Amino acid sequence: MLKEIIDKYYLDRQRNKEQRHFYISDAGKCSRAVFFKFKNAPRKEMGANILRLFDHGDHMHKLIMKSLLSTRDIHVVASEVNIAPQEIISGRADAIISDGKQLYVLDIKSMNSMIFRNLIQAKEENVEQLQLYLHYFKIPKGILLYVDKDKLELKEFIVSYNQIQAESLLKQLTVLKKQIDSNTIPSRLADYPDGWQCNYCQFREICDMGAPDEMKWDDFKQKIESQ
Ligand code: SF4
Repeated sequence: MLKEIIDKYYLDRQRNKEQRHFYISDAGKCSRAVFFKFKNAPRKEMGANILRLFDHGDHMHKLIMKSLLSTRDIHVVASEVNIAPQEIISGRADAIISDGKQLYVLDIKSMNSMIFRNLIQAKEENVEQLQLYLHYFKIPKGILLYVDKDKLELKEFIVSYNQIQAESLLKQLTVLKKQIDSNTIPSRLADYPDGWQCNYCQFREICDMGAPDEMKWDDFKQKIESQ
């Protein structure tokens, strides 16, 4: 009885979520997949257990922040800091901290033990998100703190601001915004179909139905609906 009720709570939350602006987590992602999210295209639903795991990640963040807020060895300048409102993107960094010499943007990521064990450097998609925080907050350094949610081990990586990378990410989003506004579906990723993003993509089924290059959304939508 409870299982069904709890599962329904999570599954209902993911339905009919039309996206209206970019999130930091869209940076560096497949443009076609982000386009489909904006258009609320049919997608493979995530299981209730996966959605609960996302919630669990939030608890991990709170656990880490509790220790940082309680120590005098580091100063938490602000937590859950929104980037200033502007046209292109919104996002909220976990914290801005200071070691007494300089500021750092802190981004906390949780993952299972197997991924954590094999992590020898910061994940590229996490670095890209952090670059945008560094860009908007005008802070030259950030820390990616990874938490093994099964064993609660930690790993951290310091990331320096890279202006070229941040501006290139923003340029990609600007191009994608124009494609969304003009209903032009972006091309597939160059490493389709075997890249990791394609392997985990919720839009894989409809992407397979389309052409590799740009397409018009109105025509493609009709094709999806007819099937
Ligand atoms: S299957 Fe790959 S190329 Fe197609 S939308 Fe998903 S991530 Fe992009």
